Amino acid sequence: MKFTSWGAAGEVTGSQHLIETKTRRLLLDCGLFQGQRAESREKNESFACGPQNLDALILSHAHIDHCGNLPGLFKAGFRGPIFCTPATADVAAVMLNDSVRIQAEDARYIRKKLGPDHPRVAPLYEQEHVDRVVKLFETIPYGQTERLGKDVELRFSDAGHILGSAICELELVDGDDKKRVVFTGDLGRRGLPLLRDPQQVPGCDVLITESTYGDRVHPVVEEQVDQLARIIDQTAKRNGRLIIPAFSLGRTQNLVYFLNTLANEGRLPQIQVFVDSPLSLELTRTYQRHQEILDAEYQRTLRSDSNPFAFPGLTFVRSQQESMDLNRRAGATVIIASSGMCESGRVVHHLKHGLGDENNTVLLIGFQGQHTLGRRISERPRTVRIFDRDVPLRADVVQLSGFSAHADSQDFQWWFAGLAKERGVGQAFIVHGEEQGARGVAALLHDTCDEDPVIAVRGKTYVVE
Ligand SMILES: [Zn+2]
Repeated sequence: MKFTSWGAAGEVTGSQHLIETKTRRLLLDCGLFQGQRAESREKNESFACGPQNLDALILSHAHIDHCGNLPGLFKAGFRGPIFCTPATADVAAVMLNDSVRIQAEDARYIRKKLGPDHPRVAPLYEQEHVDRVVKLFETIPYGQTERLGKDVELRFSDAGHILGSAICELELVDGDDKKRVVFTGDLGRRGLPLLRDPQQVPGCDVLITESTYGDRVHPVVEEQVDQLARIIDQTAKRNGRLIIPAFSLGRTQNLVYFLNTLANEGRLPQIQVFVDSPLSLELTRTYQRHQEILDAEYQRTLRSDSNPFAFPGLTFVRSQQESMDLNRRAGATVIIASSGMCESGRVVHHLKHGLGDENNTVLLIGFQGQHTLGRRISERPRTVRIFDRDVPLRADVVQLSGFSAHADSQDFQWWFAGLAKERGVGQAFIVHGEEQGARGVAALLHDTCDEDPVIAVRGKTYVVE
């Protein structure tokens, strides 16, 4: 069989991996590349995987860097099917509808800025591509082995990363040979509230593993929640505003759930909490629709609290007007808004209005990429440029790195031990990580594999005998 990574090789966005046997061409994930505009656009528009000749796509989870270019793949000729868990199908439909709306808005904005004479910057895909691609979803619940023709079997195990996320296990007949292939998707963490822990699976001939945080150890989640409680207390005492930039899928639901737990334990002071994102509200509803796959602690909470995504003082903000009104509001408030790296979305307005006040706090809880507003704020300069204006930075800036939903090196080690326990690994390909993370995972995997682990290079085809 052959393996080629067409995205998320040596980087963390644009997940797209091709597996070819003598009879089958299967694509794992089809995400959007995010980053410098021109380079990402070029990568997002080129489909070297041969979309028309794919037999199927297997989708690990619904983060936009894993599913966001499915409509583009459809536009390029792919006609399915797309296999995923039921929750992933539900969440991906919400994400893709949001993605096409943002692209249309961006195209309009660029056109307005550059003038009517400038060649039109078209969105990567249109609403009709989204509408048609979501019809290709075929769902398989966790733990059920599905036969796709006589030469492929597929099974999903819980990856514990976001709602519906899956470790994909494939049994492939390749001529006279049989190969077991395991793809981690994004691997979650053990002990993260709300989601079940990642499941260990038996070893395989070919492992395709992510490596985002393969070189570091995250702080314990409980300690981070204690710190969050302390920061909210300080904000309440100062009558200030706490601004938390957070991605709408995954991170925001975790935060709301943590705050609900604090409220249930009587540890949340009198404070108004606003989740300023219609998308977050819609995604929170998908968590509720599929709550049977959330963890045991969540199920216990349900017995005494019928809605663990709601507590006194919490409001989900929908309209633009309500969002703007938050900036004129007096009294202590918490505002959770996207995007997580402060590059776009409503959080940018809240930062513009809030950074100048020393009673306020900005809490950064996610990875802040290079050249992003979040990264600049994390460096605590005297002023920050927002919308062509220099805004003084007087607010407190706090960074907590322990809310990540990605496995750290200890989680990887534990999960690889599961592979080693039953048959080990033949060949491993390391994807979805920058150099340090990928090297970290390569070192951890070394003794588990027959062959030296390979850090995949984009567009390079590897033959596995
Ligand atoms: Zn993810």
